[in-house]
Amino acid sequence: MENGLEFTGYLSEKELKNCPGYPAEERLKKGPVAVIECIQKIPCNPCEDACPCKAISIGEDITDLPVLHEEKCKGCGLCISVCPGQAIRLVNQTYSENEAAIAFPFEFLPLPTSGDKVCAVNRKGEVVTTGRVLKIINSRKNDRTPVVFISIPKKWALEVVSIKLPNKKLE
Ligand code: SF4
Ligand code: SF4
Repeated sequence: MENGLEFTGYLSEKELKNCPGYPAEERLKKGPVAVIECIQKIPCNPCEDACPCKAISIGEDITDLPVLHEEKCKGCGLCISVCPGQAIRLVNQTYSENEAAIAFPFEFLPLPTSGDKVCAVNRKGEVVTTGRVLKIINSRKNDRTPVVFISIPKKWALEVVSIKLPNKKLE
């Protein structure tokens, strides 16, 4: 069976591996870093302009894919809310001994609140684990695209990409 974004709606392992915005395993181990899962050649570049560290480059041709210069990325998360394709999230594998923290855009209501336990989903939209909401940034500076930070068990750090609606509070 064919796989990949075009056929399934989510990126295959091969596509992720070849994605120039995906950080290397060694960089991921060092602390918070942007993970840019953008593989469609479309005219788009707000991520490049949003990064204060020049850690994202697209270059002369606006349809080129964004390249992450992982050594320059400070893990600030400013690029997350500017991406119209919701292709950027932040992953921090060093959050605590057993947990990773991730941040992602979330444009659904109701928004969760800090401390909520939430269903964390993978790229297929399947619930894979439970997360805890750490904070939500929803400022004018973020173009009113809320960015949700959650903690999850470390083993799911690279699998979880969002949370599932409805945001039914888990006990
Ligand atoms: S997380 Fe911050 S430093 Fe890293 S690429 Fe995004 S805007 Fe740049
Ligand atoms: S803003 Fe998003 S969709 Fe546009 S080039 Fe950057 S990562 Fe890709």
